[in-house]
Amino acid sequence: MHTQPELDTSPRVSDEIRQTTCYMCACRCGINVHMKNGEIAYIEGNRDHPVNKGVLCGKGAAGIMQHTAPSRLRAPLKRVGPRGSGEFEEISWDEALDTATAWLKPLRETDPKRFAFFTGRDQSQSFTGYWAQAFGTPNFAAHGGFCSVNMAAGGIYTMGGAFWEFGEPDWDHTKLFLIFGVAEDHSSNPIKIGIGKLKARGAKIIGINPIRSGYNAVADDWYGITPGTDGLFILSLVHCLLKAGKVDLEYLARYTNAPCLVNMDEAADEYGLILKDDDGRDLVWDANENRPRCFDKPDVEPDLAATWRHAGVTHKPVFHLIAERYLSDEYAPETVASTVGIPAERIRALAAELADVAFNQAIEIKRPWTDFRGQRHETMVGRPVSMHAMRGISAHANGFQTCRALHLLQILLGAVETPGSFRFKPPYPKPPEAHPKPHADARAGAPLRGPHLGYPLGPEHLCIDDDGAPQRIDKAYTWENPLSAHGLMHMVISNAVAGDPYRIDTLMLYMANMAWNSSMNTAQTMAMLTATDDNGDYKIPRIIYSDAYSSEMVAYADLILPDTTYLERHDCISLLDRPISDAERAADAIRWPIVEPDRDVRAFQSVLCDLGHRLGLPGFTTAEGEPAFADYADYITNHERRPGVGPLSGWRTGPEGSGVGGTSSVADGRGSPNPEQIDRYIENGGFWTAEIPDEAQFYKPWNQAYQAWSVDIGLVDAPAPYTFNLYSEPLRRFQLAAEGKGAHQPPAHLRDRILAELDPLPIWRPTGTEADDGYPIHALTQRPMAMYHSWGTQNAWLRQIHGQNPLYVPTSLWEAHGFSDGDWARVTSPHGEITVPVAHMAALNENTVWTWNAIGKRKGAWALDKDAPEATKGFLLNHLIHELLPPRGDGMRWSNSDPVTGQAAWFDLKVRIGRIPAEDVPSATDPAFPPLTSPVPPAPETVRRKLRP
Ligand code: SF4
Repeated sequence: MHTQPELDTSPRVSDEIRQTTCYMCACRCGINVHMKNGEIAYIEGNRDHPVNKGVLCGKGAAGIMQHTAPSRLRAPLKRVGPRGSGEFEEISWDEALDTATAWLKPLRETDPKRFAFFTGRDQSQSFTGYWAQAFGTPNFAAHGGFCSVNMAAGGIYTMGGAFWEFGEPDWDHTKLFLIFGVAEDHSSNPIKIGIGKLKARGAKIIGINPIRSGYNAVADDWYGITPGTDGLFILSLVHCLLKAGKVDLEYLARYTNAPCLVNMDEAADEYGLILKDDDGRDLVWDANENRPRCFDKPDVEPDLAATWRHAGVTHKPVFHLIAERYLSDEYAPETVASTVGIPAERIRALAAELADVAFNQAIEIKRPWTDFRGQRHETMVGRPVSMHAMRGISAHANGFQTCRALHLLQILLGAVETPGSFRFKPPYPKPPEAHPKPHADARAGAPLRGPHLGYPLGPEHLCIDDDGAPQRIDKAYTWENPLSAHGLMHMVISNAVAGDPYRIDTLMLYMANMAWNSSMNTAQTMAMLTATDDNGDYKIPRIIYSDAYSSEMVAYADLILPDTTYLERHDCISLLDRPISDAERAADAIRWPIVEPDRDVRAFQSVLCDLGHRLGLPGFTTAEGEPAFADYADYITNHERRPGVGPLSGWRTGPEGSGVGGTSSVADGRGSPNPEQIDRYIENGGFWTAEIPDEAQFYKPWNQAYQAWSVDIGLVDAPAPYTFNLYSEPLRRFQLAAEGKGAHQPPAHLRDRILAELDPLPIWRPTGTEADDGYPIHALTQRPMAMYHSWGTQNAWLRQIHGQNPLYVPTSLWEAHGFSDGDWARVTSPHGEITVPVAHMAALNENTVWTWNAIGKRKGAWALDKDAPEATKGFLLNHLIHELLPPRGDGMRWSNSDPVTGQAAWFDLKVRIGRIPAEDVPSATDPAFPPLTSPVPPAPETVRRKLRP
């Protein structure tokens, strides 16, 4: 008789689960790491976690291969061959830290600005910034300048927050969701979960993107817009809504500066500024008392239409200026259609749909609340239209104003912080006035007087000397890039090599692959990193680099401080930085060592604690000269940024005692350090949350209950309600300077640019590449859903999804050039040429080509085989992009960046393409660079992994 074999359908997969936070992208989902016999067996999503609620993406599941990657650095390294060769010898941590101390200590004692410290996509910027501030160098920033500072700054200056980490759609109520320029890696599980909710409810999703992949592919409708024209498209929607009278007048009058009175006297010093009372507070026309009154008076009735003429000066409300500008036929759909690549009737149809959902399908939640004027409302009225945007609209030379235009559209619809629309995540909203100002005044042997990065409110906050010279190596916060709120990391290497504005001695980088996919002009960047002066000395004399992996950048450093993987370290995802909050709760999280490193590596933040003590930095050394912190976990637990406020907000010590074990002495938000705080986080799955009270969950900038809650929780020290800045006075102050008014004056050659670009109302201007005759095609990159930046292309599982990257070509160009499957093309920009495989894609703007970003790898890096497809069939568009624009005949080379924030304009690239005849198809993509000597051994041919039963 045949008997069925006994199958164990539920094998025991683990004997312990450790809960921490994923770091395979920036979404910071909660994960359950299953352990078997002390080893990591597999990873799943944490169902209790507020970010992902159990969902795990492919990247997150593949974290185990990141943790075991053959490319992991094994010990500190000292360069022994020429820079760029990849030749190193392993050294001890003592030697590494002694070397770093010997390099940095004299710089701090004499001229701290000769040390520059820039980080990539790390998640500890409040810590690394604090360390750099203690060192005293003005030269610190993270990667935002070449990522999405336009998004952040456009949002902060307009409404006190932006998309992604600042806010999210009201997924439970929205009926119409628009996504602009969203690549799927940047907003992974939270957006996927949200889109799932919308699909289940039958809500409509519309994608506006030249490329229909990812979220755009599952959208109900798609607008394949011409790159760089989003701002014009959005302002045309604004035009249609204003013409139809479909804007939320009550919302505008109550919660924005639309009723504020603007001085229209061209001769006045205050021309274009908002009329103030004696305390410097904005004045509106009060329809109750028929006179100007402060905007926040309890009984004020702000009037959007009244013009006030007083003492010979006319004052117009902001809304008047908005109507004057956007009702112009300049923004009519028929005028803009050919530029944006979308027929006029489709623009009108979308505007009508927005109006219909916002006003005819409004929702009302019966939830009383009290606004900042003290007026009680019995219900919350919702405009169920929500939007989300990312780099696709911001990485252009007009990106800042485009982001502002999108917020203008949201606000005109009353679709921010209302039910069904876009909502802020604590600690946002935070208007520019609530952020610090930038500091850059370096002093020998002393810390900087304040944080490096902030939001200038006028020319007086620029980081320039009395003679106008930049104080920072990246020239952030200068007349060239006045609102560069995240710095300009992409300009650091070229400025340092040019000695413009000055030479530096030591450059320290963390998690930033500047010798490859994180730089424009990659080949020239490598040349700059190895450039020598007349004495044969490197123009950047010393480079320290910290990374967990053998990336291309490792070869270009002199001293390597090897980092751990994310499963071997402490981290904190802090409310002081970019936390994991959502619209209904504040939340923060930790990582902790799930396993101990099996190599001689240390968490970079712990290394900085040690180095900070060796350098005697304030905050890192006790009065007795001892280390202030044993390691980063000690810092996370005991550092206080303000009394009672530290990196983690959960389980702090309350007024009555130890704060241990969930007693009444536990304090959330504000409280003294608790020595067992990290243990409490671990017990709770690695995260902490604090629910926003029901009555405080909407209208946050104006809601008394929210303002009080945010003081309780330690987000702010006093209530600070504000109104949205449709009209931005900080921008107008820069224009006034360019008009010759005020004590701070720009150089003559920048006056016209400042006047044109820093318009206080959103504008659209061409990106500047329209004139690139001979290069008619837009060229873009998108980051794939399966990978985050370049991290995934060394991952054994994820490489099977994207091991190479063709250039995707739309049907019209495909046919015009006679391409067929398997063809290759030569792609040429004003700056360079690449040779790459092509593939046909129909769902694409007809004048745009694109590829996945950062798949291409240099031979010898990441412990990949020298013939790995990433190095032979993968490629970067970076070779085609220069950090300077081509000469324009005016004697200057203008920066390839946004003139307001300095954001790198990656997506302004224009090219021409040509088919390579079949007989000339090369065996590998071009350019190819000589293989690097790998500082780690080659990966094994085969890995077999079976955990002991
Ligand atoms: S979305 Fe990002 S953080 Fe979440 S599981 Fe995937 S890789 Fe990890």
